[in-house]
Amino acid sequence: MRIALVGAGQMGRAVEQVARERGHEVAARFDEYQPLPEAAAPDLGGADVAIDFTAPGAAVGNIRKYCRWGLPAVVGTTGWYERLDEVRGLVAEAGAALLYAPNFSVGVQILVRALAAVAPLLDAFPEYDLGVHEWHHVRKVDSPSGTALQLAGALLGGVGRKTRLETETQHGRIAPEALHVTSSRVGEVIGRHIVTLDSAFDALELKHEAKGRTGFAFGAVRAAEWLPGKTGLFTLDDVLEEMLAGPSASPRDPLS
Ligand code: NAD
Repeated sequence: MRIALVGAGQMGRAVEQVARERGHEVAARFDEYQPLPEAAAPDLGGADVAIDFTAPGAAVGNIRKYCRWGLPAVVGTTGWYERLDEVRGLVAEAGAALLYAPNFSVGVQILVRALAAVAPLLDAFPEYDLGVHEWHHVRKVDSPSGTALQLAGALLGGVGRKTRLETETQHGRIAPEALHVTSSRVGEVIGRHIVTLDSAFDALELKHEAKGRTGFAFGAVRAAEWLPGKTGLFTLDDVLEEMLAGPSASPRDPLS
């Protein structure tokens, strides 16, 4: 596979290493100083797929180009999901192949599935309150993390008494229907997410902590191996679903 590597920061470097280990080639490389070209059909070194780990403000402009060029793209960049509907329209209009995930770690996807599975039980026990807290390194530009939103979304979908996310610090009493999603920016934390279930009787914590960036890079490269030849807007869940049960019938959005 020939890869257009878009974003050459911490994640781009990890992707390049994993891609080489899996026998792939980096055909073209872009960063903020050498952004994607504006041309209608640029020379991308014969790339089969793009892997994009850039910046929230760059993501949708880049996606527009992948769609225009018919270049399958795996987008790990976070912080643009409020424009998901616009992106869904771009992908559909172009008949493009795009896969995005707020977190390419398989462990996080396992946690998302675990939360979706316990949500009906939590729905039946109003004694339990729910919350999500995440930590990341001080250079992270978006907050809360896309992963925290995905974890909270898995609970929100199944627990009727929680009808919305609250991502701001509360200086007064929090509304009971709000699911509090909070963030800390400290040092070099790669990514730590804790889901807390709390009652008068006990407290449960489900924690995911990334040990490095290789896990994210591995998931992104596996997704890039899976994507070419498909049409539509996909997530990592579609890759996992296919691994578990054969080709999935319909794309799903983890944030909807
Ligand atoms: P980083 O700051 O180390 O690197 C960002 C790179 O993007 C830099 O090389 C920069 O030059 C480049 N860039 C910025 N604007 C660009 C543009 N317009 N065109 C092309 N390149 C551009 O950041 P990072 O830690 O590598 O993270 C990048 C993104 O990936 C962030 O949004 C982060 O939240 C996200 N991320 C996602 C996952 C996941 O699993 N989905 C995991 C880790 C990080």
